[in-house]
Amino acid sequence: MNSTPRIAAVALNRPFDGPLSYTVPDALANEIMVGRLVEVPLGPQKEIGCVVEYPATIPEHGNFRLRPIVRVVSPGYVIDREIFELTRWVAEYYMCSLGEALAVSSMIGFSDLAWKARAQYRLANDWRSAELTKRQREVATLLSETLFAESRPLPVLAKIANATAALLKKLVDAKVLELEAEALPAPFALPPPDVMPELFEEQRAALQVIEASRVRGDFGVFLLHGVTGSGKTEVYLRLIDAALKEGRTALCLVPEIALTPQTVERFERRFQQEVGVFHSQLSRREKILLHEKIRRGVIRIVIGARSAVFSPLPKLGVIIIDEEHDSSYKQGETPRYHARDVAIMRASRLKIPIVLGSATPSFESFDNALKGKFTHLKLTTRPAGLRMPDVRIVPMGGATVTATPEAGMLSPQLRDAIADRLAKGEQSLLFLNRRGFSNFLMCQSCKWVARCPNDDIVLTIHRKSQARSGGDSEWQLDIFPRPLPTDEAFLKCHFCGQRHVYIRSCPKCGEEALVALGTGTQRVEEGLHRAFPGANILRLDQDTIGGRRAFIAAWQKMLSGEAQIILGTQMIAKGLHLERVTLVGVILADVGLFIPDFRAEERTFSLLMQVAGRAGRANMGEVLLQTYLPHHPAIQLASQHNYEAFFDAEMKRRRKVRFPPVERLIALTLSDENLPRVQNEARALASILRRLENRDDLHGPAVLGPQAAPIEKLAARHRQRILIRGKQAAPGARLLRAALAEWKAPSSLNLAIDVDPQDLL
Ligand code: ADP
Ligand code: ZN
Repeated sequence: MNSTPRIAAVALNRPFDGPLSYTVPDALANEIMVGRLVEVPLGPQKEIGCVVEYPATIPEHGNFRLRPIVRVVSPGYVIDREIFELTRWVAEYYMCSLGEALAVSSMIGFSDLAWKARAQYRLANDWRSAELTKRQREVATLLSETLFAESRPLPVLAKIANATAALLKKLVDAKVLELEAEALPAPFALPPPDVMPELFEEQRAALQVIEASRVRGDFGVFLLHGVTGSGKTEVYLRLIDAALKEGRTALCLVPEIALTPQTVERFERRFQQEVGVFHSQLSRREKILLHEKIRRGVIRIVIGARSAVFSPLPKLGVIIIDEEHDSSYKQGETPRYHARDVAIMRASRLKIPIVLGSATPSFESFDNALKGKFTHLKLTTRPAGLRMPDVRIVPMGGATVTATPEAGMLSPQLRDAIADRLAKGEQSLLFLNRRGFSNFLMCQSCKWVARCPNDDIVLTIHRKSQARSGGDSEWQLDIFPRPLPTDEAFLKCHFCGQRHVYIRSCPKCGEEALVALGTGTQRVEEGLHRAFPGANILRLDQDTIGGRRAFIAAWQKMLSGEAQIILGTQMIAKGLHLERVTLVGVILADVGLFIPDFRAEERTFSLLMQVAGRAGRANMGEVLLQTYLPHHPAIQLASQHNYEAFFDAEMKRRRKVRFPPVERLIALTLSDENLPRVQNEARALASILRRLENRDDLHGPAVLGPQAAPIEKLAARHRQRILIRGKQAAPGARLLRAALAEWKAPSSLNLAIDVDPQDLL
């Protein structure tokens, strides 16, 4: 072996097998170290990667001339050693390249901050209120849909919106676009300290068990299982407090959407120090500054969404995963890591406790608790004598549905309950997990349904927003189902975002028999306006809330009580602690049950429990669940707050099919524009897997499929699915690695590997 200090191995954010070797120019010798981001030549281009070995060995077939590293980017930035080692495990376990994993664990991507030298503009929070021409508004709307809270240089914005520089200049003058610097948060100011409540017995018991483990320096996973509002957060705060007092740091993960200023403020009040808040919509500059403060120990507590699991907190003392069952912890693209599982791995390497909090634990975690792998700690009541809200099931169908469609699916019971809250000055929160106006467009004559030409996705009907403000009395008399005026609606694919003209006659049979069926939040909003004229209604879904900043603006309206009726998708189901909400109405509890996925019922149950938990956080609350399936176990048991009965019932099904948590899965999705090609390749890969599965050293896992994925086509690519199922994950991964070494796929074909998939769509 010939080793020299002049060579560095660099991992790129590409699905390569391994890092590439480069020479280190003298001028850079002192700056290069493992974890640095560097620019390197790759073919005719340049690309940013991360140094993963230095000094490195000359590659064995190293006859060709190595090219030099060009420069160090984002100077001063480095990926911490502990995080680096954790990332190796991520790449190994989730079967991606080290570069792909590092691009996520770096928390800033492989980015070069010199890129930021140009002035960055983003949409102002209140851009909708500006006086604009039709064209200007079009451009602003388009930008709001593509940008969210991100900022870009003006020329880039012009390209995105296909607009002239002059027009964008006008938007800057109208304060629709603002310089990023101006939008940065005000200098940090601490809120006044809170008063620490006396713990009640269950909290104290839980805290004691976890603390004892922490003080011993043990790794341990603690499932803190408590209904919404049972005081879990108070336990987190005490644990963090104890760790901080010993000079340690703390990490708390929450679902992205639950990361409200309210949550952060609660931490700052208690600890009287700056809390690092990490979420996906920070700008790169904000991310790199935060990263640096965390690494240097200036910030000792981090609250963040999924990728914050990689926060380089030195001397980490405790990890908290709030709402551990939340599906947003799983990343939907490579690397398809689960932040909870990465956090458990991190805690085990550091020998510290990790707390998983939930009212409805994931089946995986609850199963681990039953098996004794996790310590099960329960909080069974709400503090201060608050009871769980009463839940009433309102069966829909028959008389109810025909009587109310024009009122946006409000049953008389729900309508009365809302009226009652309006009269009392209390807030109502209405939940429907479907956005848009109607769910699909169908021909009554031949049953044709409008689908996206690129994706196997049914198109949703949206009303144009300006149509709402006009005098649309005609609308109000319409009954369900009905054709819509073509100029007031459009069809939209919720996967690719493409819009289509709303048509009147069926493209298949030619009849003018198209009707808009089903109800989305937009339609419910209309119904509410008609039923409660003058009420302040706030709708929160992806169409009204583009990003974090818009969400926080809406959140303030909820908190202040300005919003009397809050209507939304799952955006409002999580984490909101609103004391004025005394009524929760679920417009249609069945929505998630028919998604063709093995977790559909588990998701529906836990979402219903979450939503119900928004009621009565300070006063007695009431929950109404409207449903066409009043006897469905997920709905019945959610109404009784009975997690364990639901778990037992649902596990019977899982045992039959041996799906998680009974066994583990690796899901392979092959996709290609050509259907026969992807079918052939899937068959070829499956037969290699089956042949190898007979080998003694690879025996164990079962190979299922191939078959078409439930969503057969996405982004114009046909999708085939193979599942590898086994008692443990490692043998399946070994089998897959062996198969991939033999399999030669055409370059047009894409293979996505999902270890421990959260959904199988
Ligand atoms: P969870 O995290 O389980 O939703 P929280 O910790 O947010 O529950 O507690 C719900 C409410 O009860 C909060 O307003 C909190 O301040 C209050 N609370 C928590 N623990 C106690 C306690 N021991 N005594 C009094 N009030 C408490
Ligand atoms: Zn589409």
